[in-house]
Amino acid sequence: MSTEIVDFFFLSFFSAKFRMDVYFDISSDQLPIIYSSNYNIRFMGLQKLHPFDSEKWEKVYNILLGSGIIKRNTSVEPHEAKDEVLQVVHPTSYLNKLKWSAYVARVTEVPFLFALPNKLVQQRVLRPFRFHTGGTILAGKLAMERGWALNIGGGFHHCSKEDGGGFCAYADITLCIKFLFMNYPSIEKVMIVDLDAHQGNGHERDFLGEEKVYIMDVYNRGIYPHDEYAKAAIRKKVELRHFTEDAEYLDRVSRNLTDAIAEYNPQFIVYNAGTDILKGDPLGCLSITAQGIIERDEIVFRAAKENGTPIVFVTSGGYQKCTAKIIAESVINLKNKGLFR
Ligand SMILES: [Zn+2]
Repeated sequence: MSTEIVDFFFLSFFSAKFRMDVYFDISSDQLPIIYSSNYNIRFMGLQKLHPFDSEKWEKVYNILLGSGIIKRNTSVEPHEAKDEVLQVVHPTSYLNKLKWSAYVARVTEVPFLFALPNKLVQQRVLRPFRFHTGGTILAGKLAMERGWALNIGGGFHHCSKEDGGGFCAYADITLCIKFLFMNYPSIEKVMIVDLDAHQGNGHERDFLGEEKVYIMDVYNRGIYPHDEYAKAAIRKKVELRHFTEDAEYLDRVSRNLTDAIAEYNPQFIVYNAGTDILKGDPLGCLSITAQGIIERDEIVFRAAKENGTPIVFVTSGGYQKCTAKIIAESVINLKNKGLFR
């Protein structure tokens, strides 16, 4: 058998299998809003020690339930991204590194994980992240079918296929896009719009030199990760100063997004909607108001809708206690403005 035929059978077999694992169909009365109670990280008081509100995902979900936008049986529960799914992007050598608690402690910036048995770290920290990752991958499929999809978690934009960092252990954005390419061969132009306060160096490293992925990144140039190598992958780069405020921020996001879409005409958008741009965020060091975040998300969704481009929304960074409420209000605003198609 020629290698092409072997490759064909190999890819057919595995792509069918991947579809079953994390790519599943939802019913017509479900909305493409993805969440699992497995997202939340709770043990040994981590949720209190860490500067992050590691229960924000549950809070967003509960506010959306209370608003009536979704019900428990109309939202979508993703599957965990297990090794065979993760290996689409991550080499085994990387997944093996996560079997060392010291490495996970560095990636998550939670030093005391260093001292814990890896089995516990896997179960209580990495397993939740694998559910987030399954959610982002599934969001790609659902956005192709519905025009939009929201993963209430995910957005681990500092993790590349070979290295984690900045609270990001799996490259969910890279995986989402690779799954799109595998399952929808007509998709050849994907745009990442990364508006978290930090540079998205993980997906940038993964897609450096990849013509099929256009990256727009708007970030504070004065904070982590200062990854100059990864910056070469950014095709629309907007570097902000400390404490940038709403008017300048929204103007630059809006103008650059319009230009980027006109230049590239993407077939799909992955929107990394970090909320660490919020005033008072100790890591983001920007001065955007809650209303500014809501307007920003509206700008991005409106641009996608006007261009007829499917869009995935992931929540990424931003872990102040008030963040969950802002994310939920923004989702409600998108719905009220008719931007969920
Ligand atoms: Zn961030």
